Amino acid sequence: MASYHQVLQTAIKKCQQVDVPAESAQILLLELCNMNYTDLYLNYESEIDDSINQQFQEGIKRLLENEPLQYILGYQWFYGHKILVSPDCLIPRYETEELVANILADTDYYFKNSISIDIADIGTGSGAIAIALKKEESKFNMFATDISGKALEIARKNSELNDCQITFFQGDMLQPLIDHNIKLDVLVCNPPYIPAKQRIQKSVIDFEPHVALFGGEDGLFFYHSVFENAHKVIKDKSFMAFEIGYDEKEALIKMVKEYFPDDKYEVLKDINGKDRMLFIYHNLEAVTK
Ligand code: SAM
Ligand code: GLN
Repeated sequence: MASYHQVLQTAIKKCQQVDVPAESAQILLLELCNMNYTDLYLNYESEIDDSINQQFQEGIKRLLENEPLQYILGYQWFYGHKILVSPDCLIPRYETEELVANILADTDYYFKNSISIDIADIGTGSGAIAIALKKEESKFNMFATDISGKALEIARKNSELNDCQITFFQGDMLQPLIDHNIKLDVLVCNPPYIPAKQRIQKSVIDFEPHVALFGGEDGLFFYHSVFENAHKVIKDKSFMAFEIGYDEKEALIKMVKEYFPDDKYEVLKDINGKDRMLFIYHNLEAVTK
């Protein structure tokens, strides 16, 4: 016999001993009981149901082993939408919501009068970016690609759950678009960009798919691939939006100048002040944000 209070406090103590945020234990409990914070505190001294407690203990065990809470819950919120996740796809990050917001601002600015906008999310993973964009702008003709068939299964499921019309292709970076002769107004890509030997958090390296994380020796492999082939898939007036590693700005600017010498570009910081987004404006004037 145990109360919600006792069960939660014991779990929080265990989390604190191994530096897992106590908040994760609380969120897990709320989710399993299908309660909000107020419900929980009103019932704090009530007895917890045995089967919920058992599920909670199993979840806590996984949390204590550094497994991300999102894989335990099976979802992450992204741009206000519930996105299912599994170890076959990257957990969408808050920084990536900022990429989405900036893309929406730019499409509004450049393509305000267009009836339809052809846009692709390369390396879609869970489908988070493509879904968030499509939910905001119904006039987007949305394509999404990934090399991972398992990630695409999740992305497809997410597009159905969120009632989104997206055309998915499996393949290597831009190749599926080239094969289908698709031409884009907007190319979006959050590629794997972590350098192969970079040390990263245990909860990331041990649990998230490495195909979603590592971008070759210097982290730039996939930017080279996209830059090299972009001219085959972008329209005459178009823009490209990338998420980038916090320390990749200088190397990427050098590459932009080589691949797109006549185009304007801009690097934007995320909310933590880290360089995080690269926008390249192909035959369009850059907007200063
Ligand atoms: N777009 C998702 C997001 O922002 O949360 C996932 C981004 S994750 C950093 C990179 C994605 O690229 C992964 O889903 C991975 O499977 C995919 N990927 C890796 N190599 C690829 C390739 N050669 N061609 C296409 N996609 C690839
Ligand atoms: N932002 C992710 C991380 O640092 C990496 C995502 C990526 O490589 N695009 O864990």
